[in-house]
Amino acid sequence: MAETNPFESLQEQLDDASEHLDVRDDVLERLKQPERVLEMTLSVEMDDGSVETFNAYRSQFNGDRGPYKGGIRYHPGVDRAEVKALSGWMVYKTAVVDIPYGGGKGGIELDPSDYSESELERITRSFAAEIRPLIGEDKDVPAPDVNTGQREMNWIKDTYETLENTTAPGVITGKALENGGSKGRVEATGRSTMFAAREVFDYLGKDLADATVAVQGYGNAGSVAANLIEDLGADVVAVSDSSGAIYDPEGFDTRHVKDFKRDTGSVAGYDGAAEEFGNDDLLTLDVDLLVPAALENAIDADLAEDVQADVVVEAANGPLTPDADDVLTEKNVHVVPDILANAGGVTVSYFEWVQNRQRFQWTEQRVNEELEAVITDAFDAMIDAYEDSDVPNLRTAAYVVAVRRVVDAYEGSGTWP
Ligand code: GLU
Repeated sequence: MAETNPFESLQEQLDDASEHLDVRDDVLERLKQPERVLEMTLSVEMDDGSVETFNAYRSQFNGDRGPYKGGIRYHPGVDRAEVKALSGWMVYKTAVVDIPYGGGKGGIELDPSDYSESELERITRSFAAEIRPLIGEDKDVPAPDVNTGQREMNWIKDTYETLENTTAPGVITGKALENGGSKGRVEATGRSTMFAAREVFDYLGKDLADATVAVQGYGNAGSVAANLIEDLGADVVAVSDSSGAIYDPEGFDTRHVKDFKRDTGSVAGYDGAAEEFGNDDLLTLDVDLLVPAALENAIDADLAEDVQADVVVEAANGPLTPDADDVLTEKNVHVVPDILANAGGVTVSYFEWVQNRQRFQWTEQRVNEELEAVITDAFDAMIDAYEDSDVPNLRTAAYVVAVRRVVDAYEGSGTWP
């Protein structure tokens, strides 16, 4: 089966939502295409003196509700279609949680484990210099995504500020605390995933404290979600990363698993529990809650037929193909979509940007409380749309809320020129 193109998935999700919205076709068409995509070839000197070239992108999808906002991904799978899709999902993510941003995304096609730290710094600074004319505190505000974090954000901030001869900490979010970052930002994506799981279990009259949980992907989003869901009393019985999956019917101490991964590089081999348990076994395990927290297209229609979880909460962006979504809807599996469940990252990015502009730092408690309010309000808005309009599932309900907000902003300001 051909790999699903994530950009086509995004467009299909918008078409599905438009059936339940009174939106003109020409306005919808605008919402299905990025405003602009910058495609770059970076030439960077390696440690041995040779020069290597890298394909890099920044897509600015829609700015009707505020500055473009979204992360920068370092991965061999980065290409134009993926970056366009991810930038579009950011538009509807910032709209569903109602923070004043548009959507953007960037990426470099590389495997960071192939490069030294000094090479990664030169690659990152080269990328920052190329995107500098496009970004800015009020224009486009990048952030971390897969395989990038505080280190890369600090380099980008420093490159921008040096070239612009100014201080502008709000040009990028996800920075280290001492470089203008926010408390709670690292945990924010996993934390909103936990809130989304808690809310949907509550809505369905189920108890998360009694639930069994499988988490696919044990990076920043997946591991924190696992920790916080375990804290609510659930048993996290299976987790995986790109090197394998582990299973324990009694439930893991998810923080020990995280320490093990930090020390050894993977979850595989933890407590000798690795053996015959693979990624597909995890995704089709008979659990109450499945949290895909890795990459796009983790579950296609065939695999969806075998999914046994009652509820799916998407910590990754785009983990279900549209066909998989249809299968799960048909099976009455409730899916809390990525644009809401993992929106904690961009929401605390917004708090970081606000703090940068105020030159004032919030406490971690304030960050977490305000995040909880944003995510529960967004969840309630999604449920209202789910119950009031004849939508088939929670994803379409979330898109109905989000597209309506973007269209209202667009129609309120008119077309230029
Ligand atoms: N990369 C994250 C996402 O996909 C965070 C984006 C941000 O903080 O701007 O939502």
